[in-house]
Amino acid sequence: MSIWSVAGRLKNLRFTASAQQLKTLSAHRRGESDLTYRDGMWFLIATCEVPAPHVKDPAAFLGVDLGIVNLATTSDGTRHCGKALNAVRHRRRELRRRLQSKRTKSAKRLLKRRRRKEARFAANTNHVIAKQIVTEAERTGSGIALEDLQGIRDRVRLRKPQRVTLHSWSFHQLGSFIGYKAARAGVAVIHVDPAFTSQQCSSCGQVDRRNRLDQASFSCTSCGFAEHADVNAARNIAARGETGWAVSHAA
Ligand SMILES: [Zn+2]
Repeated sequence: MSIWSVAGRLKNLRFTASAQQLKTLSAHRRGESDLTYRDGMWFLIATCEVPAPHVKDPAAFLGVDLGIVNLATTSDGTRHCGKALNAVRHRRRELRRRLQSKRTKSAKRLLKRRRRKEARFAANTNHVIAKQIVTEAERTGSGIALEDLQGIRDRVRLRKPQRVTLHSWSFHQLGSFIGYKAARAGVAVIHVDPAFTSQQCSSCGQVDRRNRLDQASFSCTSCGFAEHADVNAARNIAARGETGWAVSHAA
């Protein structure tokens, strides 16, 4: 590549990327790229426009429930645990507590580096989860039903020690990763209203706050159906996705 610098044009500079990225770059790059400097490294950020394949008509829907203990739970019973991510967040908070009194430059720099590290770790976790969910939907010919995340801060009411672990941007990031990976695979995605998905019975449909025994357990007071609370919620999201898809496609 070549770049313009204050000293004129620098030609034939080398850059590197993964084999997959190089393939995408050579086929789909659009416009100019941005050069950025971060943590002692130079990054070239290029925009690629990849044409999306035709969205296949889904045979069923895989519902995805987002949470904090389990970052994502799908209606087929798969739980993606957030333990590792929550541990990284916890360590950074501890470090901040210790360093906050020292307002030195080096303390600030260290915290900034840790914040970036945490963000990279979260993004990587989200990429892995999104890929697994999209691969599973593709394999089973299903669409993906996601919660509409408008107002997630109001919906997720937590006790104070947990509140700090709630990063709504991380939920949005996971949702957007699933969105673009699904589009690339031709997998349908639908967003549904998440109201009462944790209190509703996915077997008989009854809504009751007492159905939710604790963080992890759901037991229906009407029909007796019992399931992990997040799996039950994901099943409700899947059902709403199916209904929503049928309505929008009948019209
Ligand atoms: Zn029930």
